[in-house]
Amino acid sequence: MLCPDKKYFHVLSARLIVIICLMALIVAIGQFPIYGESTGADKKIPSEDIVNVDNEKSLSRDSDPENTDTVSVEENERASETFELLPIVFQPDYSINLTLPKHKMFRCGDPSKKQIALTFDDGPHSKTTEQILNILDKCDIKATFFFVGSMMVQYPYLVKKTYEKGHCIGNHTYTHKNLTNLTEREIYEEVEIYNNLIWGFTGKKPNFLRVPGGNYNDTVINVSNNLGLSLAFWTINSYDYMQQGRQRTLNIILSKVSNGAIILLHDGPVETIEVLPDIISMLKEKGYQCVTLDELTLKE
Ligand SMILES: [Zn+2]
Repeated sequence: MLCPDKKYFHVLSARLIVIICLMALIVAIGQFPIYGESTGADKKIPSEDIVNVDNEKSLSRDSDPENTDTVSVEENERASETFELLPIVFQPDYSINLTLPKHKMFRCGDPSKKQIALTFDDGPHSKTTEQILNILDKCDIKATFFFVGSMMVQYPYLVKKTYEKGHCIGNHTYTHKNLTNLTEREIYEEVEIYNNLIWGFTGKKPNFLRVPGGNYNDTVINVSNNLGLSLAFWTINSYDYMQQGRQRTLNIILSKVSNGAIILLHDGPVETIEVLPDIISMLKEKGYQCVTLDELTLKE
C-alpha cells in the first residue's frame, strides 16, 4: 500500500507525463501546415499549381519520354530576359477569323490543292525549337507549332521568335493532360490559360486546339466550340518520337502523303531535326507546297 506522500508523487508524475505528451503533440501539429477549413468537397486548383507547373520532364508527351532538355547558362540568361508582354486579357475578344470555318475538326485540308502542313507538337525546347526554325528558314517554308503552355512560360523568347517568323501557333493545352480525364471546368482552364498566354505574347488568339494524345469527348468539343477553336488532328503520324530511324520516318510520310495532308512531327526528338531537311526536300520534289494550318484550312 502506498503512503499518502508516495501516492501524491505518482499522481503528480502522471499529470506531468500527460502535460509533456500534450505539449509534444502541439509541437508536432505545428510542423504541418493547415490548409484552411476545406473538407475536400470543394477542391480548387491552387493558382500557384497552375502557374508554376514544372512539367517539362513529366509531360505525358506523345514523344520520347527520355527526352531531357538541359538548359545551358546562356539559355537561362536568355530565358530570364525581360519580355515586354502585352497585358494578359482574361476576357479577350474571341472574334473569330471569319475566313476559317467555325468549330470544325480538321484531319486534313483541301484535297484539291497540292498543299500539306507540317506540325510540330510539344515544344518549345531550348535545344530543338531554334534548329527547327532555322531549317524552315533555309527551306523558306512556314509551319505550325503546337506548343505546351507550361513550356512557353519557360521559353517565351522562342514563342516570340516563332510568331515573328510567321509560323502558326496552336493551342496544345497548358499542362498536356488527357482532357477526357478532366472536368469541364478543368478543360476550360487548360485551354483558356493557354489562349491568354498566347494573347499576352502575340496579341492574337490561336485558331486551333490539338488535344494531347488526340483524346477528346463531347465536353472537349463543346469547350473548344465555345472558345472559338477548331480541333486539329493529323492525317499522317510520322512516329518521329519512336527513334525508329530516319529512313522509316521518311517512308511513313512518303507512303501516306496526299493533297491537304497534316503531318504530325514533334519538337524535341533529335531525330526529327536530322530527318526534317529530307522530309521537306522529298515533299518539294513531289510538288507539295508546305503551308501553315491557317492557310491549309483557309476557305476562299
Ligand atoms: Zn503533345
